[in-house]
Amino acid sequence: MTDPNRRSAIVTGAASGIGAAIATRLAGDGIDVLGVDLQAVDLVAAPHWVSADLTTRDGNRLAVETALDRFGRLDIIVANAGFQHVAPVPQFPEDTWDRLMALLLTSPFLLARYGWPSLVDAPDGGRFLVIASAHALVASPFKSGYVAAKHGILGLVKTLALEGADHGISACAICPGYVRTPLVEQQIAAQAAAHGVSEEDVLNDVILAAQPVKRLIETAEVAEVASLLIGPNGRSFTGAPIIMDNGWTAR
Ligand code: NAD
Repeated sequence: MTDPNRRSAIVTGAASGIGAAIATRLAGDGIDVLGVDLQAVDLVAAPHWVSADLTTRDGNRLAVETALDRFGRLDIIVANAGFQHVAPVPQFPEDTWDRLMALLLTSPFLLARYGWPSLVDAPDGGRFLVIASAHALVASPFKSGYVAAKHGILGLVKTLALEGADHGISACAICPGYVRTPLVEQQIAAQAAAHGVSEEDVLNDVILAAQPVKRLIETAEVAEVASLLIGPNGRSFTGAPIIMDNGWTAR
């Protein structure tokens, strides 16, 4: 049984990488967490799960309805699920563009839309947090769908911040540089194989080329920032992109 006095959160993409770290961290903070992903995983810290395809309206509705069924309230939405596709514009698959928009841009909108009444009712103020990217602020070639969707999501966050202000709702976005997750490790391995060079060379010369500090961010660092933003001292960040990118966008 869940305690009706505890805050509750949805974390999307919670089966892997940044989402798993945030789900674990928020559960450790005493928040009831519903992990949402294509497939549930065994994450001891966050025992509540729902399998949903967040590129669909039904999947996003199911996520919100399941949280309300399980916890009786929904205070926090963390829109984190994502994927990447790398291809030049003339070869960029149109269906992949549609799926990137559906997951990175439309899913957060639908979660906000379906969850809004619950966020309004949240006793300590509703919280909406997006895991955006440094690619919400600057572009890289061959990532048109991802970059376009991540730029767009900052527009949604700003709008939610304005509309939520009179309802105690805050909305903000974390914009990380490269984080050590399966999403990035797969890119490193693929590029090393494609160019016949070592993964270390790909990391330093390709992946981290734009970052003056040549290190991957750890998922726990992002989760720490998420915990702050969702906590009692996070409210004033509403409307803002929170950049943690090892200097990438400082150029
Ligand atoms: P990841 O691949 O480790 O995890 C992403 C999760 O999203 C996976 O568990 C996957 O199953 C889930 N997912 C994908 N499609 C889904 C769908 N249709 N419905 C439900 N769930 C789905 O990736 P990550 O690196 O942890 O990335 C998480 C977020 O952080 C993404 O939005 C990504 O764009 C962003 N981000 C990542 C980095 C990085 O360097 N890793 C940097 C900046 C921003």
